[in-house]
Amino acid sequence: MCGIIGAIGTRDVAPDLYAGLIAVQHRGQDSAGMAVFDGARIELKKSVGYVGDIFDSSALAELRGRMGIGHVRYATIGTKPYRDAQPFSVSEPCGIAMAHNGNTVNYDELRERYADRTRSNCDVEVILHRFADALSREKEIDLRAIFLAVEAVMNDVNGSYAVVALIKRGMLAFRDPHGIKPLVMGEREDGTKFFSSESVAFDAVGAKIVRDVAPGEAVYIDSTGATHTRMIKPEKPAHCMFEWVYFARPDSTMDGRNVYDARLRLGQELAKLVEKDDLDVIVPVPDTARTAAQSLAEELKVPCREGLMKNRYIGRTFIMPTQAQRDRAVRTKLNPLAFVVKDKNIGLVDDSIVRGTTSKKIVALVKKEAKRVHLIITCPAIRHPCFYGIDFPSSKELIASDRTEKQVCEHVGCDELTYMTLDGLKRAIDVDGLCLACLTGEYPTTVTEEDKRRVCESREKDRVERG
Ligand code: SF4
Repeated sequence: MCGIIGAIGTRDVAPDLYAGLIAVQHRGQDSAGMAVFDGARIELKKSVGYVGDIFDSSALAELRGRMGIGHVRYATIGTKPYRDAQPFSVSEPCGIAMAHNGNTVNYDELRERYADRTRSNCDVEVILHRFADALSREKEIDLRAIFLAVEAVMNDVNGSYAVVALIKRGMLAFRDPHGIKPLVMGEREDGTKFFSSESVAFDAVGAKIVRDVAPGEAVYIDSTGATHTRMIKPEKPAHCMFEWVYFARPDSTMDGRNVYDARLRLGQELAKLVEKDDLDVIVPVPDTARTAAQSLAEELKVPCREGLMKNRYIGRTFIMPTQAQRDRAVRTKLNPLAFVVKDKNIGLVDDSIVRGTTSKKIVALVKKEAKRVHLIITCPAIRHPCFYGIDFPSSKELIASDRTEKQVCEHVGCDELTYMTLDGLKRAIDVDGLCLACLTGEYPTTVTEEDKRRVCESREKDRVERG
């Protein structure tokens, strides 16, 4: 999972890229980078760490150019954050810089095809090579050739990808045929045009949403600011449901649906599944579950209280790459408030149960003080791995893959467990065409048994290497 931004205007865009990247920093903290075009050459800076640590005012001052792209990365593949940091660039057949959010299912096949020029383990590098390869076969690098090269990518790359690129004095953005990853377009009053994973980046730079890039669509903004669009390979939309459940900021809107409102609806749907008489107080696991917990409490007319205090200087545990890091982080991140939970029947609301280890620790923390813990989850049981960029691991690591609800409840140590239903989730998110593959096992793109084995093995290897 990553965050991307692109900006093209009439003055230096590095400060806008910086503000946009800070706004989407929650989407990845392994590395960050920017590439800007100054009219003659592409200038690129990327490194390991947070946006604010990499780009100080002198670094931003050196990034001159009125068009640029930016990236924050959370690694699902690859173990060398610097080597895999984005954007990537090539100089043949012309200067191109590219950044993306997504995951390539047939990565190994493409990596092998472009082995002579691929230096990292990052998917966007093979997408960039496929794009540049197709472009190099055209006599002239014009709009037609650029869209043909996007078509070559869409024909050959199986997976999820939302892409921003600098090419030929303009900016290109495209989204995979199912639109699995979000990509929103925005514009500011001064005419600067933006792309971002989440609309919250537009708020940060004073721009407004124009629309979403459609599944299978490519958009090119040329050096005069004119926008050219082409539907390259649109297929049935399959937008990742987990954006609304967990990943995106509540103040974002993607694919026409505001995240905060979707989470309010998740709470209302949960209220249909939970008995209010069993509960003295609703306690959200901060932060993602808070909105759903509040609306659940409102519906049930049960008080909602902050019964778990969060140390805000610890990052998201779910996206920490190793179990040891996640374990340490949970212990220092959350502290139960005895004043709220002592001897009470607690409705503990969280967004998901993945491996079950974090949930087990949180339940144990609350149970030390509470009389009873009813764990209420805003997402249905995650039973299948994700091959599109969310680190839902192999089936054997997913706690719900081969356990009944009762068994998961016993495993995490709660007294009762309620998962959201699939229909409730669909009603709450209310977006036409969702990817639900980690819940149902029905993947929007072809994922062969061999793909599944290879990706799961490669994740396992990464995890071992990371310790
Ligand atoms: S499999 Fe699940 S997490 Fe992955 S893209 Fe689909 S809905 Fe999102």
